[in-house]
Amino acid sequence: MAEKRSDSAGTKIKKNNAPSVPAGTSAAGTADLPEIPVSRYEEPASVPDTPPAPAVSEPELPQPRRSIAFIGSECYPFVKTGGLGDVMYALPKALTRQNCDVKVILPRYRCIPWKYQEKMVYRGEFRMDLCSDGRSFYVGIMEYVWDGVVYDFIDNEDFFSSGNPYTNLIDDIPKYCFFSKAALAALNYMDWIPDIIHCHDWQAALVPVYLRTLFAGTRVSSAKVMLTIHNLRFQGIYDIPTIKYWSGLPDYLFDYAVLKQGHDDANMFKGGLAYSDMITTVSGTYAGEIQSPFYGEGLDAHLRFHSWKLRGIVNGIDCDLWNPEKDELLASPYGPDDALAKKAENKLALQEQLGLERDEHKFVIGLISRLTDQKGLDLVNFILPELIDGNTQVVVLGTGDVRYENSFRYYENAFRGSVCSSIMYDEERAHRIYGGADALLVPSLFEPCGLTQLIAMHYGTVPIVRETGGLKDTVQPYNEYSNDGNGFTFDRYEAWLLLDAINRAKTLYFTSRDRWNEMVLRDMVKDVSWENSARQYRSLYLELKP
Ligand code: ADP
Repeated sequence: MAEKRSDSAGTKIKKNNAPSVPAGTSAAGTADLPEIPVSRYEEPASVPDTPPAPAVSEPELPQPRRSIAFIGSECYPFVKTGGLGDVMYALPKALTRQNCDVKVILPRYRCIPWKYQEKMVYRGEFRMDLCSDGRSFYVGIMEYVWDGVVYDFIDNEDFFSSGNPYTNLIDDIPKYCFFSKAALAALNYMDWIPDIIHCHDWQAALVPVYLRTLFAGTRVSSAKVMLTIHNLRFQGIYDIPTIKYWSGLPDYLFDYAVLKQGHDDANMFKGGLAYSDMITTVSGTYAGEIQSPFYGEGLDAHLRFHSWKLRGIVNGIDCDLWNPEKDELLASPYGPDDALAKKAENKLALQEQLGLERDEHKFVIGLISRLTDQKGLDLVNFILPELIDGNTQVVVLGTGDVRYENSFRYYENAFRGSVCSSIMYDEERAHRIYGGADALLVPSLFEPCGLTQLIAMHYGTVPIVRETGGLKDTVQPYNEYSNDGNGFTFDRYEAWLLLDAINRAKTLYFTSRDRWNEMVLRDMVKDVSWENSARQYRSLYLELKP
């Protein structure tokens, strides 16, 4: 019944219902590869058939069909800490509408809500060698199919049992070495070989390295591999012995061209960039910026070297999830036709909920953000007292560095009724701020793409942003002569320039309300959906011919 097979390199697995293989090929498609003695293999697992991919024979769908495996560390609604979670959810959905067959591979963290865990279906299990001393680990696969996308969760309690996806590098390095290797082994195990493997951020950056080294010659190695940089600040850097031990990768990869960095460190993101067939990042401007020392986070030279395969595509937002017309979390949902009246109602409801002075004529500025240095909060802190002039209110929602949490708490106390600081992560409150505020601040030091300005525009809330990364690519500055544009912008990272941009917004709001209202409506109808970006990803997938 059960047969034994060598599937991923260094991974012997056996399972029930294994597909038959042509003569002359080892069961995993690893013809002529030496069989590496490895792990014990546990009880054979039953593998239900993969549910059929959604029917997509409509003539208008672009041809040919492409299959893509997304590999990343978070995905809404299972687990989300930032924009990556939104992208991992929305892009696969948009790609299914572009005639793509998408499977999303994620860690099965214990913190995934039970309502999703209980619907997961067991797809199988095997043992996989990981460490340089041949230590092997259990890999379980749990599956969940939703909205035409198949989600496969890699299960292992040793690695994924903490309350948060990310804890500290000491735990995260082994966790994501395991995850990257297990994701590839799982594709071989399920015998689902995609045209493209699309990995995201440092947590999945060892996938290209494994694919072209330890997995070379296995079936999955026929796939092309793309790595997307959502944020270059986090790279998975640790000392060489630790990464060498946990990844089990051969010595020759710990070289400056691939994984080595500085004197003693290895950098997982760096290795992934070297071994990917294509690198993308989430805006054209950021793709250029990261090749400079200021934004390159130490990898600018490496990125310049690989720039021939680097592209930028801006993110979109999921317009089903973020739809002011059907948003049940808003006090008064609205569309472009009734936005001006209804936004005032939402503002009053927001002021009431947050304990601010109720007055629809106040200019309400929102800030929804991780409270970290990246987000330009030192600038906001510096000028916040200047904003409080009796006509302006500031609403902050975020968690992060203690110094920012405390300073915003301080301002709430100092300016009671005009400033509200919600130091928390709260989706519902975020929707109400997008609906009720007049403007949203995004003064980031760097911003690969940024989603909050896109959501804000879709909700008719005018963004005030710094001209960097995706903020520059998505917010066209207001031009008072031609009366066009989507928001207010400033260029250099200086507090007084931020204050100037806010004052320009306030001036328009208080002195030319009709022009302000036109901008609100322009923003609401601007196309910020995923469809356009999904089309661009699809054409990149087509460029990567097997
Ligand atoms: P980043 O990924 O750098 O954190 P993005 O702008 O790309 O920033 O994405 C942030 C996402 O997280 C948006 O969907 C935003 O609404 C959401 N978000 C950020 N902070 C909070 C919070 N405190 N409560 C609710 N949602 C938040």
